[in-house]
Amino acid sequence: MGEEALIERLARGLGAVQPPVEVGVGDDCAVLRLGDRTLLFATDTMVEGTHFTTDPTNPLTDLVAVGWRLGASNLSDLAAMGGRPLAAVISTALPAEWPVTWVEQAYEGLRKVGDRHGLPICGGDVVRINGPAALTLAVLGEVDGEPVLRSGGRPGDLIAVTGDLGASRACLRGVHDGSESRVALLRRGLWPMPRLEWGQALRGSASAMMDLSDGLATDLPRLAQASGVGVVVREANLPVSDALVTVCGSREVAQREALIGGEDYELLVTLPKGSPLPEVPLSVIGELTAAPSQMEFVGANGEHRPLSEAGGWSHFGSAS
Ligand SMILES: [Mg+2]
Repeated sequence: MGEEALIERLARGLGAVQPPVEVGVGDDCAVLRLGDRTLLFATDTMVEGTHFTTDPTNPLTDLVAVGWRLGASNLSDLAAMGGRPLAAVISTALPAEWPVTWVEQAYEGLRKVGDRHGLPICGGDVVRINGPAALTLAVLGEVDGEPVLRSGGRPGDLIAVTGDLGASRACLRGVHDGSESRVALLRRGLWPMPRLEWGQALRGSASAMMDLSDGLATDLPRLAQASGVGVVVREANLPVSDALVTVCGSREVAQREALIGGEDYELLVTLPKGSPLPEVPLSVIGELTAAPSQMEFVGANGEHRPLSEAGGWSHFGSAS
């Protein structure tokens, strides 16, 4: 069973959404209305061996960065609705073999990203586990005005992304030779920046928005499905960093990485044509179409291909 099908099946068992919840499972955050305030609620888990390694010989091993990424991925979900953070709680499942300094390092990283973006950690739980460590953060946020949902995209809207894509996937897969480009990608991959200010600036212009956690080729169909529209994306328009081009050897290869790469934590946004563009680094990469079955990208040679053929990132795989 795929990740989406599993979430759908579990969500059915949770029952219908009712006040004060206005938006339930299926967007980056749940949305709650309390009086004239609109609150956002989200959670994310990082598991040892799946999302991070503790192997001392691996150049990606950095427990402080694990805590940072846990906070950043949750903050990124608030950013995706145009929101800002209020507070978070953390729950940690800890194997007996873990030295206390490791979990202290993870909490230090969480504290760092929290301090930087105004997210106090105000509580939590620690339990013992016979297995890999797991850290779960739940964040509460608020949006001033209407949150931007995944479902607001309309045919003809432009598709755009913030920043540049593909760095994290390249960072995880590559050989770390200490070159300047590799170090730049490593920094981007291990220490992603949640785009909170950009998300807030885009609220008002954007018709739909989500954050890119599983890769454009996987996440864009989710937004399109929520909006009931199709998509055409031009691979040649995907923004990539000079470091990624250097490491990949060509712009074309870098842009394919950008199409399928996960954990970018940039924002994917749709904008009605002619709507004012805020002061945010945005690249227009395609547009929404009227046919919900159309999920296409235009490759480097101008060929139209299904996004599903670009490859992608699914934590559960696509089989069974
Ligand atoms: Mg998200």
